[in-house]
Amino acid sequence: MFQTFTASADPSIAAPRVATLRDFMAAQKIDAFLVPRADEHQGEYVPPSAERLRWLTGFSGSAGLAVVTTRQAALFVDGRYTIQAAQECDAALFEFPGIARAKLTEWLTAHLSNGAIIGFDPWLHTAGEIRRLESQLRPKGLKLKPVSRNLVDRAWGKERPASPQNPVVLHPLKKAGRSADKKIADVQKRLVSDDQAHAVLTLPDSICWLFNIRGSDIAHNPVVLAFAIVPANGKPELFIDGAKLSKEVRRDLETIATIAEPEDLKARIAELKSAGKPVRLDPETAAFALARGLGSQVVSAGADPCIALKAIKNAAEIAGSRKAHIRDGAALVRYLAWLDGAASSGRLDEITAVRKLEDFRRATKQLREISFDTISGSGPHGAIVHYRVSEASNRLLGKGELFLLDSGAQYDDGTTDITRTIAIGAPSAEMKARATLVLKGHIAIATAHFPKGTRGVDLDPFARRALWQHGLDYDHGTGHGVGSYLSVHEGPQSISRAGMVPLEPGMICSNEPGYYKAGAYGIRIENLVLVTEPETPEGGDRPMMRFETLTLVPIDRRLVAKDLLSRDEREWLNAYHARVREVIGAEVAGEDDVLKWLHTATQPI
Ligand code: ZN
Ligand code: ZN
Repeated sequence: MFQTFTASADPSIAAPRVATLRDFMAAQKIDAFLVPRADEHQGEYVPPSAERLRWLTGFSGSAGLAVVTTRQAALFVDGRYTIQAAQECDAALFEFPGIARAKLTEWLTAHLSNGAIIGFDPWLHTAGEIRRLESQLRPKGLKLKPVSRNLVDRAWGKERPASPQNPVVLHPLKKAGRSADKKIADVQKRLVSDDQAHAVLTLPDSICWLFNIRGSDIAHNPVVLAFAIVPANGKPELFIDGAKLSKEVRRDLETIATIAEPEDLKARIAELKSAGKPVRLDPETAAFALARGLGSQVVSAGADPCIALKAIKNAAEIAGSRKAHIRDGAALVRYLAWLDGAASSGRLDEITAVRKLEDFRRATKQLREISFDTISGSGPHGAIVHYRVSEASNRLLGKGELFLLDSGAQYDDGTTDITRTIAIGAPSAEMKARATLVLKGHIAIATAHFPKGTRGVDLDPFARRALWQHGLDYDHGTGHGVGSYLSVHEGPQSISRAGMVPLEPGMICSNEPGYYKAGAYGIRIENLVLVTEPETPEGGDRPMMRFETLTLVPIDRRLVAKDLLSRDEREWLNAYHARVREVIGAEVAGEDDVLKWLHTATQPI
């Protein structure tokens, strides 16, 4: 299994650990220490060796920051995680003030006296983060101080897991669609035009994309933890633990890069500093330690040049994604056919539902990983947006309830991410009506035409309009970018209030509006979509882009209130289901029970 169901740690683990941390703080004359959920690469996910926040506090969410002072402690988490933090952490030890930056400064000012020193690990915070925090704290008389060895690591001691050393594999050109050589040349062109002599890369998915490599250093993300320096001309340097490279992989990589150990990075950064030429560094993703090492004289702030290039998928990646979605669609259809039968007994639970789904995906024989922990939320659990089922929380899929299932797969030709909401027994009229409003939002995105320059923020309200008209909404973005056998959450584009980047042909996004009734049920319908080349619609005079839906799995018709759909919306749903029946039907040919289920599930309404 790629997923575990262990319950959260006992909140009482935190007290002795915090006490040990305070001893180390006292020894270094530090009045407060920052513990973010981050590693040296600032990716969204971290390896076990970097789960410092979890070790210290018990909090297992994917974003958060703890502050420990000599007498108090606080855990800052965002709205997604407030309930979880309160459940997992010792409330006698931690306050939960929310995550806004202003609140962090406020909290530090309120709990520390003038002249106090706040320690932090310079590798675990971005340059931008530290700069902003410093400018807020300085006027309050508080001082930030980088520590040379993380105090949590000292407290953790021998129990701390080792850094991952999993083998690197080459991502074949057939799947990558563009050679590492050419990608490196694309990045170098950018450096030349921006008058920069080098770029320092720190994001694992950027580095994997650039060098056409994949790995398994982090759960659910086929990435390798490494650093790279790309010069405007000549061979890039890849700083990677040599233990991860087989002879063959090393030989191949050496044709495009100079291979060095991560420990060598520090010396190279010092050399770049003394060379004095501009070095591109992304202040929002690179560690403060790198910005400090290079010095403000040479740092030339600029976004990681791989981010924008990687977001636009090439023909091979698009073809791969289509294939991955057909494979995944067939696995999901087999699974949903099984689920309808199994759930009718009333004895199916959330964990079994997750295990079975992974079995169906494994049966494709091409599953490399799941793309995130499956969200398997029955009844009220469906309303918890980032619900993670554990042995302790596991519950049955009850009759008359909704079952929200959000999951994805990593295949070497594509990453998938799909949510379906399934009626277990007969849904209430309210559930049906609200599921239909969510569907209307989903269709509004799926059918939108939009001109060049349109940003995600411009489209986000399309998905909410039907809900807004009824005084309803949801508290998350409508869509995120998705990698190509890389991270399931990938920038720079998103369909959300923060989506300021124009959508471009070749980008893959999710389309996932939802509705959540706390304590009762949750609804979300998620497909991945591909931005198409602009074309002028018949009778129009301007070219427009649109979305091609990649995901091919029936949307539960039992949750559709037909009268709430317009004729166009009904036509979209029927055409989508006809396409699913045709494409996936061919994949499951000969499997009579599955075909029968698919036939019923895709009937026109
Ligand atoms: Zn999802
Ligand atoms: Zn998603």
